[in-house]
Parts: sequence; structure tokens; C-alpha cells
Amino acid sequence: MAEANEKRRVVEVTVVRGTRINSLRYNTACGYIFYKKEQRGNVLRLECYKRKLGCPCTIAMRDGIYVQTGEHNHDTEIMEQRRAAVLRECEIIASDPRMGRLGPEAIVAEAQSRHPKAKIVLNSAVKRRIQRAREHAARSPGRPRTPETPSARPQSKRPVTPVPFLFMSI
Ligand SMILES: [Zn+2]
Repeated sequence: MAEANEKRRVVEVTVVRGTRINSLRYNTACGYIFYKKEQRGNVLRLECYKRKLGCPCTIAMRDGIYVQTGEHNHDTEIMEQRRAAVLRECEIIASDPRMGRLGPEAIVAEAQSRHPKAKIVLNSAVKRRIQRAREHAARSPGRPRTPETPSARPQSKRPVTPVPFLFMSI
């Protein structure tokens, strides 16, 4: 492959849920975002989120070790990683039965308080995500939930442990 002369290095990756149903996003600790290209045998190949803009960066993962080839031709996606994390938080809150009565504004405010560095505004796309998460949670009443914490009130500013199902980042 043409990769032979290119720079390779091991990168640290966190896998989170992607924006599409059943998709995964791979965030590198240095602030870039990758998506799955293909799985061949025991090698998972990822390509940069900015592939279509000409970024040549790829990652091959074997046995949990992520090796990046190439250099990015663009800035990091740290703001996008944070935006995605706070959006996910909105979904977690919306699907949390202890938070069920919160309106969209309060959900965004709560998510924002858990991710102070991220910035989101409550637009129609965010409202749809909240609504969808709520409907999804309502359709899955038999799923195991974390035991209720008596002190966790919806009005509480204190972070509440996210419910570790459905919208969990792995
Ligand atoms: Zn890139």
C-alpha cells in the first residue's frame, strides 16, 4: 500500500455514538474525529471525518490499538467533539425517567451545566433529538434502569449520573 512512507503513530481513541442511528464515531484524544471505513478480518479501518474535504488521514485498529497514518490537513474538531457530547447529554437527560418532566430548555441548560466548555443553542434540530430520545425511552419501558437516587431531583443543578443504557458512549 502507499502507506509505507507515511508517518504512523499510535493514537488514543474514544468511541462514541455517531449522529446516525447505529453509527459510531471515533474521537482521538488530540481532537479529531474518524468514522468506520471497513472491517477486514481483525483490522478495523477508519477514515477522517473530513475525508471528503481531502484529508488523507486514516486509522487502522488491531487488538484495541489504534495506529494513525498520515497527517490531517485541517484544524482539530474539539468544538465539534464537545458539541456532540453535549447533544448526547441532552438525549441522556431526555430519556432519564428521573428527568422526564423537564422541558427542552431545561434539558439543554442541564446538559450545558454538565459540559460547561461546550456551546449549543436550542434549535429545531436539538428539539427533535430531545423528542426522539424521549419517544425511544418511552417505547422501551422494560429496559433495566439504574436505581433511583432519592436525592436526584429534576431541578437539581448537581450532575446526576447518566443512565448507562441506550445513549451511553462506549
Ligand atoms: Zn483529518
